[in-house]
Amino acid sequence: MQKIKRLRKFGIKRNDMVMILSGRDKEKQGKVLKVDYKKHEISVEGMNVLKKAVRPSQQNQKGGIIETSLPLPLSKVKLICPKCSKPTKITRKMVNNKMVRVCKNEKCKEIIDKV
Ligand SMILES: [Zn+2]
Repeated sequence: MQKIKRLRKFGIKRNDMVMILSGRDKEKQGKVLKVDYKKHEISVEGMNVLKKAVRPSQQNQKGGIIETSLPLPLSKVKLICPKCSKPTKITRKMVNNKMVRVCKNEKCKEIIDKV
């Protein structure tokens, strides 16, 4: 139940495509790797990447540069509707007793998926 409530609030979940709204990666698109509903943060593949030089260690014998995606605030991303491929807001409705996400784009209004 708790999980559904959170989804209702944010509407974005793992494997969704999102667009970055501001900052270094503005208007880039990426796949959601992780959503932290408690911290209101989201990790997007290839976005907000931090490159870090590491010295050779036992885990990483060569050393070199590693890249990690730092989480972004949820407010900095917008869901991309898989039906119309546009960044959109979503709304929810019940279909066959299941809560689904619906694209808010006037020309689209397609059901995105089941929550
Ligand atoms: Zn749409």
